[in-house]
Amino acid sequence: MVLICPQCGKAALYLETGGVMGDIYRCKNCTYIGNFVIESDDEELSNELREGHRAETGKF
Ligand SMILES: [Zn+2]
Repeated sequence: MVLICPQCGKAALYLETGGVMGDIYRCKNCTYIGNFVIESDDEELSNELREGHRAETGKF
């Protein structure tokens, strides 16, 4: 399973902290910090999100 960043669509998240407040994830690729992440077994989903992001912003 991979954890995908909802902001940039890359599987570049790591666990920042966890505990009673819940898990907080941080993205190595962008500035995203939060407890909402996309969990997927499918690497293709990550690729699709990345393609969508590229189309929105016009850059990688
Ligand atoms: Zn990100």
